[in-house]
Amino acid sequence: MRIRGAVLERIGDPAPFAESKPIVVDELDLGEPGPGELLVRIEAAGLCHSDLSVVDGNRVRPVPMLLGHEAAGRVEQAGPGGSDLAVGQRVVMTFLPRCGSCEGCGTDGRTPCLPGSLANNTGELLGGGRRLLRRGEPVHHHLGVSGFATYAVVDRRSVVPVDDDVPPEVAAVLGCAVLTGGGALLNSAKPRRGDRIMVVGLGGVGMAAVLVAASLRDELGCEVIAVDTLPEKLELARELGATQVYTPAELAERRVQAEAVVEAAGNVRAFETAVAATAPGGVTVTVGLPNPEARASISPLALVAQGRSIVGSYLGSAVPARDIPEYVRMWRAGRLPVERLVSARIRLDDINHAMDELAAGHGLRQVIVFD
Ligand SMILES: [Zn+2]
Ligand SMILES: [Zn+2]
Repeated sequence: MRIRGAVLERIGDPAPFAESKPIVVDELDLGEPGPGELLVRIEAAGLCHSDLSVVDGNRVRPVPMLLGHEAAGRVEQAGPGGSDLAVGQRVVMTFLPRCGSCEGCGTDGRTPCLPGSLANNTGELLGGGRRLLRRGEPVHHHLGVSGFATYAVVDRRSVVPVDDDVPPEVAAVLGCAVLTGGGALLNSAKPRRGDRIMVVGLGGVGMAAVLVAASLRDELGCEVIAVDTLPEKLELARELGATQVYTPAELAERRVQAEAVVEAAGNVRAFETAVAATAPGGVTVTVGLPNPEARASISPLALVAQGRSIVGSYLGSAVPARDIPEYVRMWRAGRLPVERLVSARIRLDDINHAMDELAAGHGLRQVIVFD
């Protein structure tokens, strides 16, 4: 079938992208879903820093690629053999499918699925191959989702069903920002009663971690400390439940520390800030994606002497089929107002400008809505 989608043509074009236009909204041919696959009509798709990282070349992916890995939609059709999901079922897309049978999938989220990672690196679906053609030439899938399009064919193992009461924008943001930010905290930092929780870097993922941390306050009695260079982000973090907010300079000056620290900025300075702000006995969880060449400077002795640890967490060490229903329950109970993360609703055609906004750190989640 014919679809419209946002195709990244070139990596490393200069900003502003509204002028260099590395992404073209184009017509493509979407193949039929194969066995174990679904055709999904996309309702909403969020712009994430990992999309920008492909555009600016920090994460090298094959091009041309139909971008978008944080999305939600409704099942339109199942491949041959059918599916456990009915036509019309709303689904959250997740960007790292779990095959369920490899060594990685056996680790309960600590390590990624091996075939899932391989498929993502080659721009294919988990079941192999591509379903996207443009004027007869193949186009790569982005992380098994390619959600910046009117429709997508995805592996069943790339989606998690949610009920109709979860609005599309909320469902989309659950798939990356909340799964990653919340998972970094719940699956990796695992705060205990009385711990102070700190989040360094307040993009969509970091702010989602703040939301999840705030939801734990009654249960754990924790302080929620938010850190960012931008005053407007700090203001918003306070509205979303942070109990203390600081710029990195203020944080260092006042020697504020926490036992559970999540770094979600994806740059070396933020990582070093997060490590320095980790209290004795505490853990630094890094979930950002810095440039692969980046190197940080930390003191091994301080780790030893203070019994601290540093943990990396990809996709919040999440098991989407387990974790997303839990976030939905928290959202439904009013404990996790995920809609507060949506800062703008935009059209597919505004994608290059939206990448500039993202690069500038404006807003939280810009969500593309489809009618
Ligand atoms: Zn993302
Ligand atoms: Zn697997």
